[in-house]
Amino acid sequence: MAIRAVNAPIHGEKLQLTECPLCGYAFDRHESRPSHIETHDPEDAGLSPLGTIPAGHETPLAVTSNGRDHPDPEATAGEVLAR
Ligand SMILES: [Zn+2]
Repeated sequence: MAIRAVNAPIHGEKLQLTECPLCGYAFDRHESRPSHIETHDPEDAGLSPLGTIPAGHETPLAVTSNGRDHPDPEATAGEVLAR
């Protein structure tokens, strides 16, 4: 992904995409980035198609040492480290 810093008269320095991170399209200096990016589908970013819920979406991304998908809120830091 290509980004450059530009100086805007009112807002000061900001970062600007020079290429679309999804297809590599090179933007013109004043071309609307959101207008181009909204033409892409979720699949272009490696996501599921819009309205599709993938199997296993409920599976936690990680399991803590207590075997649950969330830490024990009552545990002290020492207890968490000892597990
Ligand atoms: Zn694109």
